[in-house]
Amino acid sequence: MPKFIFVAGGVMSGIGKGVATASIGKILQSKGFKITAVKIDPYINVDAGTMNPIEHGEVFVTDDGVECDQDLGNYERFLDESLSTINYITTGRVYQAVINRERNLGYGGRCVEVVPDIPDEAIARILKSAKKNRADFVLIEIGGTVGEYQNMLFLEAARMMKIRYPGDVLFILVSYLPVPKMIGEMKTKPTQNAVRMLNEAGIQPDIILGRSSSLLDRPRKKKISIFCNVNIRDIISAPDIKSIYEVPINFEKENLGNRILKKFDLNSKKSNLEKWEKLVKVIKKKKKPIRIGIVGKYFETGKFTLMDSYISVIEAVKHAAWFYKKKPEIYWLSAGKFEKDSRFLKELKDYDGIIVPGGFGNRGVEGKIKAIQFCREEKIPFLGLCLGMQLAVIEFARNVCGLKKANSTEFSANCRIPVIDVMPEQKALLKEKKYGGTMRLGAYKCELKTGTKSWRAYGRNKITFERHRHRYELNNEFRNVLEDKGMIIAGINPEKDLVEIIELKKHPFFIGVQFHPEFKSRFLKPHPLFKEFIKASLH
Ligand code: GLN
Repeated sequence: MPKFIFVAGGVMSGIGKGVATASIGKILQSKGFKITAVKIDPYINVDAGTMNPIEHGEVFVTDDGVECDQDLGNYERFLDESLSTINYITTGRVYQAVINRERNLGYGGRCVEVVPDIPDEAIARILKSAKKNRADFVLIEIGGTVGEYQNMLFLEAARMMKIRYPGDVLFILVSYLPVPKMIGEMKTKPTQNAVRMLNEAGIQPDIILGRSSSLLDRPRKKKISIFCNVNIRDIISAPDIKSIYEVPINFEKENLGNRILKKFDLNSKKSNLEKWEKLVKVIKKKKKPIRIGIVGKYFETGKFTLMDSYISVIEAVKHAAWFYKKKPEIYWLSAGKFEKDSRFLKELKDYDGIIVPGGFGNRGVEGKIKAIQFCREEKIPFLGLCLGMQLAVIEFARNVCGLKKANSTEFSANCRIPVIDVMPEQKALLKEKKYGGTMRLGAYKCELKTGTKSWRAYGRNKITFERHRHRYELNNEFRNVLEDKGMIIAGINPEKDLVEIIELKKHPFFIGVQFHPEFKSRFLKPHPLFKEFIKASLH
């Protein structure tokens, strides 16, 4: 029987529950266990694909093409495992399945009710994920904060699982301990209240991870222990850190892994985090910086800069920079600024390399195209991801091939020179307003052209599989024109003859990819294209 560890959050959101979950997984994995992780999102949305990244953060994509919460990215980066649809649960998915079953008479004529049928469906999915991944431990992160109306049915599922499998279920609360400036002391009351609310849902936490600016001292731990009914050794500090990759190491300092094993009546085991620790040491050492600019639009929200929308891109840049023992410095460059005034473009010279990441819709597009032109002409290393690649094609068509009216039908539906266009089957979907989960999603084959930079980056492999999330494609009608003027088609999808990679000669690094390589970069395994991009940016 696999063991199930539920991770819930207390006090407030955004305190790193996903990283905590991934780190617990990492520790147990390093002790020799097979781990999988499930994220439960309390939204009605069936998946994250229809959500604006400014609101919900990045939409992560799995090999099997699920558009899901960015936490699955954290799990993959930490565990170095590829997850799938079964690792992602939303309220929408659960209700949809229950209602469909009811319509098919799957409940045999009985009354279908919120409790137990909704939690039961969630439990069935959790069990399925354990089976599919042959896991010893399944980590289940419940999104939101305890006390919210939205995630109650999932806490209910957790409670019901504990009744069914008493020795195999564990509850961990990740809670926040503020240190108010005017008091100057770490306060435990919000955590006490969070535990009380969890108790109201019928759940007693076995372990509490105390997120705060610093380590929890003895008096704080004692207080939480007494008021929350938790052994003092099961109250673990989770202080602010520079890099998320330090978290598993910090948890192990407080013996979290073996405390978990003990709760399941399993023998203590030594963890093997050697390679991990070595790289964390590299991160912490003083290093020369490498400056990467990201030209995007999903990071401005009011007075704040939001990095969550591009989290996988950021992590992929970091992984590759650390590989070369450099300190990654990432700068947010607003596409709108270049659009308004071309004089700002020369600022691009301040960076070692420029990335234009994925995106949707008109806003900022012309600014990004200007930035790409500048990178091409000034020989600044450039990596275009999905939309970034499409815009590089438009720029090349306009300014090198002389097709001044070149555009994508995404931005100009009736444009005369659609160098980027939708495939016919996508056109039909758009007409019927079938937007959710219908893009070209997940892993597709890419055949690399021998002798190209990309082929070399991939270790001279002929084939790679990369993850996609897009509706538009390079229009094959224009392939010859582009190639005649020197654009290299460095990768194609053989099944549908779609362009996957473009690159330019006589440039230190100019590559655009129709896929999202950032989704496959892992802490100990940087992605080959990001590695090559960083390498070029070093010069
Ligand atoms: N908007 C573009 C498309 O749908 C690019 C998508 C992306 O960058 N992920 O094809």
